[in-house]
Amino acid sequence: MPESLTLLWSLMDMPGAALSNYAASLWGTNVFQAALALGFLREAEPATWVTCPECFEHEEEVIVRPGRNGGVCYAIPCPEVLRAEVSLNDMRQWRVDMAAVASTLARALQLAGKPTELAPGRVWRLGRWKYQGQARDMLLAIGLNQPDAIDIRRQITASRRPVVFVPLAEPGADFWVGQPPPLIRLSEVVSLVDSALGIDTTELVGLIQDADERTDNTPDSLSFVLDQKVRSALNSKMTDELILQTYVANGSSSRKAAKALKKRGHSIHHATISRLVKKYEEVLRTGSSESVVRTRSSQRRDTPIEKRD
Ligand SMILES: [Zn+2]
Repeated sequence: MPESLTLLWSLMDMPGAALSNYAASLWGTNVFQAALALGFLREAEPATWVTCPECFEHEEEVIVRPGRNGGVCYAIPCPEVLRAEVSLNDMRQWRVDMAAVASTLARALQLAGKPTELAPGRVWRLGRWKYQGQARDMLLAIGLNQPDAIDIRRQITASRRPVVFVPLAEPGADFWVGQPPPLIRLSEVVSLVDSALGIDTTELVGLIQDADERTDNTPDSLSFVLDQKVRSALNSKMTDELILQTYVANGSSSRKAAKALKKRGHSIHHATISRLVKKYEEVLRTGSSESVVRTRSSQRRDTPIEKRD
């Protein structure tokens, strides 16, 4: 009977988080022991905060006091018993060894190449998967629902026709710019079978195909909307935003942007555009205009693999 590893996946989606001894006791022996045996969990330094071992109702910072025979003892304040003794066992905690998870997954999927870390502690390339004549980067990304996930997006989108494994959590709807890559939750395809990792490869291939089909049927709505924006702005007046969008849409070239604007009846010198770009540097890096850049580069990536090399 396959067992769900949901608790492990949730822990993985909180990069760097530790599993306390108390939380581990809620995991169920099978799952916890299997995660240890697989090398997915490694014991970390003793916790400085613990769940109260008396009432389990609160968490407190551990206070270290001199004990008998020159030793030390640990305790926390507790509203129920005033002072709750804390044992070394209570302070045990574990962290996910993501390198072990990545290499185990890569082996189980029989991928070519060795796993490499693309973004420290967050994104790994498990290897390359060749399917229907196309090579694709199989990635593992964790914490895509975290506020800082935007910082690791580039490592994903710059990969070759990536397929992205995530533990459980998916990023918000506005996370991707351009076409989102197929996203496979480990919880959907990986389970514990007799204390070993079982991967449902049929389900996996099916999910990737479904995602690809969805992508192929979706028009590139983002660039369409932006094109519309550029067009309607041109029909009214030349705004900073219009100039910036034209600049980005023309491969970040002031000269090309000046030409494109001229074609539409707007005269502006390319040096003026360059000055404007400088002024809005920050906006260009993080704002909506970025979408155009990403959409264009993703189109380049979408050209058939054979023609790329
Ligand atoms: Zn308590």
